Amino acid sequence: MKYKRILLKLSGESLQGEKSYGLDAKVLKQYAYEIKKVVEQGIQVAVVIGGGNIFRGAQTVGSSIDRVQGDYMGMLATVINAMALQSTLEKIGVFTRLMSGIKMEQVCEPFIKRRAVRHLEKGRVVIFGAGIGSPYFTTDSAASLRAIEIEADVVLKGTRVDGVYTADPEKFDDAEKFTNISFQEVYERGLNVMDMTAFTLCRENNLPIIVFDMNSEGNLLRVVAGEEVGTLVH
Ligand code: UDP
Repeated sequence: MKYKRILLKLSGESLQGEKSYGLDAKVLKQYAYEIKKVVEQGIQVAVVIGGGNIFRGAQTVGSSIDRVQGDYMGMLATVINAMALQSTLEKIGVFTRLMSGIKMEQVCEPFIKRRAVRHLEKGRVVIFGAGIGSPYFTTDSAASLRAIEIEADVVLKGTRVDGVYTADPEKFDDAEKFTNISFQEVYERGLNVMDMTAFTLCRENNLPIIVFDMNSEGNLLRVVAGEEVGTLVH
């Protein structure tokens, strides 16, 4: 296996599957099995989940809800998703711990770096909920930050698209996929890998990102094994 400790970022939207809102049990199960395959190879797995399937802070613009309040609502949404994934993983025999950027004693542990690393060393999947616990950030930023803190080898961004393209492949037929691209080139071409805060954190700390299709069976394991799946940003 190429990577020993990974941080997997899953968007909230991906968890809604074919639905227009909320959680799809089928997708949860599918992702849990993908994660299990990797854990069985002795890989240490941390997960950051988004909340876009339930609530995004940006939705509050022009509404009666204050933006900061909205961002906290978004963070709580990520905890709902994290709890759903935790249960699904446990149901198939994977040991997990849920850590949150916002204190919520009854459902999760607070995020403490040394503790997170200890869980990983014991083979538990550590799920990070509530982003970084501060408004005006995204869960992509949380993924980059937590990955750096726990010294992960790589951030794996599981999406619907199988990598980084010269243009949006869902809109442009002639869009070409990169198998490999530098941080500098992503920046110069203005490509959308992660938001700028998240991207810059990875770049400044030399943390590679792999964008790949999480919905293809076995893909996560292939990425971890070092196969050329998706796009490596380095
Ligand atoms: N959020 C936040 N700080 C964080 C992480 C998330 O304020 O550190 C809020 C923000 O409002 C965001 C929402 O939580 O819109 C859900 O996260 P995100 O949009 O990143 O989820 P995804 O797009 O991955 O589903």
